[in-house]
Amino acid sequence: MDATYNRERRAAGFQKRPAGEEVTMSGEITVCVNCGAKNRLRVPPPGKTPVCGQCRSALPWLVHATDADFRDAVAAPVPVLVDFWAAWCGPCRAIAPVLEELAREQAGHVKVVKLNVDENPATASEFQITSIPTMILFKGGRPVETVVGAVGKPALLLQILPHLPK
Ligand SMILES: [Zn+2]
Repeated sequence: MDATYNRERRAAGFQKRPAGEEVTMSGEITVCVNCGAKNRLRVPPPGKTPVCGQCRSALPWLVHATDADFRDAVAAPVPVLVDFWAAWCGPCRAIAPVLEELAREQAGHVKVVKLNVDENPATASEFQITSIPTMILFKGGRPVETVVGAVGKPALLLQILPHLPK
């Protein structure tokens, strides 16, 4: 998650993605943990989480949000962990793989939303983000837990897992 990655993401059409199509870390494709099938991640029907087109297992759900679609992004039927990050932030790069692992390991139980604070200052300001990375867990569209800093995976799980469905 560095400046190069960000440029490539923009070049790949991140800003102009079609309506109804969400963007994953790996460029719109998410791999099914159960069968390995590559799936293009789309916005699921209301009340649903994304499932594999091949085996119907829950897919890792990790998307990028903007000021424009943030409310929609956190209105999910599962808890939503929002990562407030920036391209220049080293600790953000350190925590990024942990969040991807969480999305895979808790597929169907959590949605991970990444919000670039430089490109989306309104949302960062609304939630009073003063240092990054900051991760806020939303349930029913409301913040219920905040984690500040690139804490290790065990510390992150300690705060987040109690809020996730079993
Ligand atoms: Zn599958």
